[in-house]
Amino acid sequence: MYSDQKRRIALISVSGDPAAEIGQEEAGGQNVYVRQIGETLALQGWQVDMFTRQSRPDQAKIVQHQPNCRTIRLQAGPLEFRSRHEIFDYMPEFVSQFEAFQKQENVSYALIHTHYWLSSWVGMQLRKTNPLVQVHTYHSLGVIKYKTAKKLPTVASQRLPVEKTCLETIDCVVATSPQEKAHMREHVSDQGTIEIIPCGTDIQRFGRVSRTEAREQLGIPAHEKMVLYVGRFDPRKGIETLVRAVAQSKLRAAGDLRLVIGGGSRPGKSDGIERDRIEGIVNELGLQEMTHFPGRLDETNLHLYYAAADVCVVPSHYEPFGLVPIEAMASHTPVVASDVGGLQFTVVSEETGLLVPPKDVDAFAIAIDRIIGDLEWRDQLGAAGRQRIESHFSWEGVSTQLGKLYTRLIEEKETTLEQEKQPQVAA
Ligand code: UDP
Repeated sequence: MYSDQKRRIALISVSGDPAAEIGQEEAGGQNVYVRQIGETLALQGWQVDMFTRQSRPDQAKIVQHQPNCRTIRLQAGPLEFRSRHEIFDYMPEFVSQFEAFQKQENVSYALIHTHYWLSSWVGMQLRKTNPLVQVHTYHSLGVIKYKTAKKLPTVASQRLPVEKTCLETIDCVVATSPQEKAHMREHVSDQGTIEIIPCGTDIQRFGRVSRTEAREQLGIPAHEKMVLYVGRFDPRKGIETLVRAVAQSKLRAAGDLRLVIGGGSRPGKSDGIERDRIEGIVNELGLQEMTHFPGRLDETNLHLYYAAADVCVVPSHYEPFGLVPIEAMASHTPVVASDVGGLQFTVVSEETGLLVPPKDVDAFAIAIDRIIGDLEWRDQLGAAGRQRIESHFSWEGVSTQLGKLYTRLIEEKETTLEQEKQPQVAA
């Protein structure tokens, strides 16, 4: 049986606040992932503290999500929103705040699971002074992201070596797809331990309403063909490709095509530039009438949009995993996605949707038309997608796999520490 000590773990997500509103100010998949695994692991018997950076003075320092799961916001740098690309210099302060919190609460963690490279650096510092296990999930790999960049950002010279050292030295890295593991081996290092455990989704929340019911609730006419995008406004997400593809759709002429681009912040927030750019393209192509920007989608309506859509499009240039396609599939909606990264793992082309080359406007247009032009096939793809999610991508299943990994690593660490304590017998 486990002692309390053994079951106490910390999830460190400096740049992705698990208690944040999703869909704005960089809050996306990482935030959702950390919150969901945190809550599910707590239900499975772990004591979970999730650490993040406080980004506003009025934010609660501690948010209790469940009896054994809370978000703890530490002050590192100014109490203002800062992009994740600007906060590496505050990480030493984050480490000391973490240690101060441990002291003040008189707690220690058997294991920390860090998220994104900034937190991996924090974890590696903590490992130097604490006998803990470190597990890491990258969420995005600098080396892949920078491949398409015209000019390397300054932070690259810090990020790339940190990502390499992390893989080579910590206890275990979790890849969310076989594709991500292959990228790590090819581009980061051939050393270090990698386990594949996918991301998950809430199969009770998504898929509980029918298309007809969802459309009634949203006021979308039954005869319209609805193409959906959900996510942040970030150039990497490739929304431009989708908009241009819809402009080319053969079904556009019939006049019953609707494009819904969900997500985004209030005006003036950090994703505003990309949102303005996309709106500009929509106007330039004359798609204003058929394009809708409902803003951030939340627990009240996100499941309805997924269920109402005929197809969900994920046109990312690069996607390490991608929660949106599995949420759509859980909602019985087929997915057209770029043939990259984790999307190659979650979407089975011709079975649960279609994979097409990234940035290829013609290919996206043809794929969208194939699905919305054949509603019987749409339903078949949708049913197969739901089945795939139920069997591979529920949060319960994912958290169980993580819990098993944590238990094994904690036990291995204990054995090593015990062995180190044994007096050395002279030969
Ligand atoms: N999301 C949301 N409301 C929005 C836009 C996005 O709840 O208006 C959620 C979406 O449902 C998904 C996450 O944000 O759970 C995005 O995750 P994904 O892995 O697809 O992309 P990332 O943001 O990590 O690049």
